[in-house]
Amino acid sequence: MRIKIGKAPDNDIVVDDAHVSRHHAQLSRNEEGGWVLEDLDSTNGTFVNGDQIVRKPVVTTDDIQLGDRYHLNLAEALRQANDYSDEFDALKGVYDNYIKEKVQIQANNQFKIRLLQSLPFAIPGVIGILIGFMGKGSPTLFAVSLLIAICAPTVGVFLGARQSAKIPQQLQELTNRFKTEYVCPKCGTFLGEIPWESLRKRKRCPVSSCQARWTRD
Ligand SMILES: [Zn+2]
Repeated sequence: MRIKIGKAPDNDIVVDDAHVSRHHAQLSRNEEGGWVLEDLDSTNGTFVNGDQIVRKPVVTTDDIQLGDRYHLNLAEALRQANDYSDEFDALKGVYDNYIKEKVQIQANNQFKIRLLQSLPFAIPGVIGILIGFMGKGSPTLFAVSLLIAICAPTVGVFLGARQSAKIPQQLQELTNRFKTEYVCPKCGTFLGEIPWESLRKRKRCPVSSCQARWTRD
């Protein structure tokens, strides 16, 4: 997000002062979530706490001066801009990924469950064919194949059940991560499992103390 400051009407914050340039300075976010003030080659310079700057991290208690006499109240300026559209746009990827991973977990596990439940059933069949080849066969072989015939489905059901128990855990981990990432870029409120496109139509954060603008239109 960028907040442009200057005399020209296309700025986010329009300053009516003779000593402020048309495009005087801009505020942008740094990686830590703080603000960086940057002078845009203004005629009369940008100052933070009395020192001329080109680019400097700023906080709301800093004295920001544009040109010879205009003092910018940072807190007021941010409230005025309240534009979080860039950050909000980035949430589309977060939502799309969440849905994709959720479907993947379910599909992947369903395949494994079916495989685990059906594979052991195939073994008694093979044993049976082997016994058939050996003619009448020995009673021992017959007993072994019978034992396998009884145990194999049980093993399959057990393995399948164990695999299906993994689904809620994996989904829980995915949801926990989603809850920390799919949040209002300003106030951090979890946005729920609401599709990004639906949120976009709301245009603003519904939290009354936030009201962050999510779209530019
Ligand atoms: Zn908010």
